[in-house]
Amino acid sequence: MTEEKSANFLEEIVEKDLEAGKYKHIITRFPPEPNGYLHMGHAKSICLNFGLALKYGGKTNLRFDDTNPVTEETEYVEGIKNDIKWLGFNWSDEFYASDYFGKLYEFAVTLIKNGLAYVDDSTSEEIAKQKGTPTQPGTNSPYRDRSIEENLQLFAEMKAGKYKDGEKVLRAKVDMAHVNMHMRDPLMYRIKHAHHHRTGDTWCIYPMYDFAHGQSDSIENITHSICTLEFVPHRALYDWFIEKLNIYPSHQYEFARLNMTYTVMSKRKLLKLVSEKYVDGWDDPRMPTISGMRRRGYTPESIREFCDKIGIAKRENLIDISLLEFCVREHLNKIALRRMVVVDPLKVVITNYPEGKSEMLSSENNPEDHDAGSREMPFSREIYIEQDDFMEVPAKKYFRLAPGQMVRLKSAYIIRCEEVIKDASGKVITVNCTYIPESKSGSDVSGINVKGVIHWVSIAEALPVEIRSYDRLFNVENPALIDDNMLDALNPDSLNKKIAYAEPSLKNATADERFQFMRTGYFCIDSDSTKDKLVFNRTVTLRDTWAKEGKK
Ligand code: ATP
Ligand code: MG
Repeated sequence: MTEEKSANFLEEIVEKDLEAGKYKHIITRFPPEPNGYLHMGHAKSICLNFGLALKYGGKTNLRFDDTNPVTEETEYVEGIKNDIKWLGFNWSDEFYASDYFGKLYEFAVTLIKNGLAYVDDSTSEEIAKQKGTPTQPGTNSPYRDRSIEENLQLFAEMKAGKYKDGEKVLRAKVDMAHVNMHMRDPLMYRIKHAHHHRTGDTWCIYPMYDFAHGQSDSIENITHSICTLEFVPHRALYDWFIEKLNIYPSHQYEFARLNMTYTVMSKRKLLKLVSEKYVDGWDDPRMPTISGMRRRGYTPESIREFCDKIGIAKRENLIDISLLEFCVREHLNKIALRRMVVVDPLKVVITNYPEGKSEMLSSENNPEDHDAGSREMPFSREIYIEQDDFMEVPAKKYFRLAPGQMVRLKSAYIIRCEEVIKDASGKVITVNCTYIPESKSGSDVSGINVKGVIHWVSIAEALPVEIRSYDRLFNVENPALIDDNMLDALNPDSLNKKIAYAEPSLKNATADERFQFMRTGYFCIDSDSTKDKLVFNRTVTLRDTWAKEGKK
């Protein structure tokens, strides 16, 4: 990894504050806007905020920053809560910025009374013009010097619904020549005759995010208010409001947003993929959302491990998605139940195995975990193996099945290829083999030298299942760079569906189980499964094959 990485500069800050006796306990919060489902970047923020409170003793609030009535939905609130719990974190209090609408209104009145806020009748275009540019100071609004009494009355009338959307706004009276553009009399309130998901039609004026966020932290006595770098220039304004209102001084600290290769990390862009149906919903297994990763079979442990590994950066950076996949693979290797599933079947007939006979063979569930036990698999005269596990003209060092060559069937017997049967076009359709009855798995077969071990399923009992394999959602490393043309870079082959033949024990697979289809990849049951058809998602391949293929 190349990103600038500190051990964890936020931990250092918290440690210093605690040593200095500034706080008894720390209070952090995770403040999502309920306008979409959470993505991997939010997971990073969650691990950070909850992680600090867990490590240093303290608590973390969940606060929905729901100041914008138009884009917010209750569905997202429920989705977000579900995702945080699934990641393994419990919040102390569940708050909503909208709970503070009354308090924020009073804060605004206080500022007006102190001559620090005014009602402005300028249009949004006029206000934009007044702002100036980063190199040129702004100009004062003609309404800037309204009397306190007039401002109080107009603001009360705004609240009472006397004016239409956009007719008036409330602005902070800071400094139109300030070097920081955010300090040039920013908006505090706008008129919006809109229904809010929690406050209904009580309000027709809504606080701007910048007027709500810092004070919400203050109201909750948040000690360390952690957010992403784009809020660095807003910090001065939050501090100004806190100072002028003389309320609890929460401190803001910023870190770099998490970005990952071959995907996008913005709710706005993800919403576009969902609403224009480029993906099958927010929880499509190709999405970088927490719900998508859950459906795909990623574990909370592996996501937490990933967030820990990448550390906290102070500069924007792009993390290789294969690092996340590495963490997923490492965890799944420890917990996944091994199963045999043939994806590209080739029929093998074992000619010296009695017709009509079938026997149950035992196979261990997980060599990494002996407590996982074993299961029984039926073995019979006709089986499927992978087409790849047979070569009519074997390459050098090909240790699998080939004419005259022997191979071991995992947890079963050694077989030898005796005859190849082809169809009219010359395609191999069946391979006739003989088996060595004394070679049953676990027996002493010294003297027989067999290098290759392959998986198989008995045809009579094989369970046809659908498997869905996923590839990168985008074809370019950083789709954020081509913002407007993001859709052109969508990978048309990011989803591949196929019928495969599974050992019968998978009939009873449950949603929380993780599987390794031996030699193929890690899989889990998809929610599209029905009683008649099981669907499995490939969570991740066994090895990072993509890095190599990508270079081809
Ligand atoms: P988006 O641009 O995707 O909508 P956002 O920052 O607007 O993201 P919020 O719901 O406002 O989303 O964010 C909730 C918290 O998650 C904030 O503290 C925010 O800083 C943090 N966060 C959002 N995206 C990332 C990211 N990519 N990396 C780290 N933290 C993030
Ligand atoms: Mg936001």
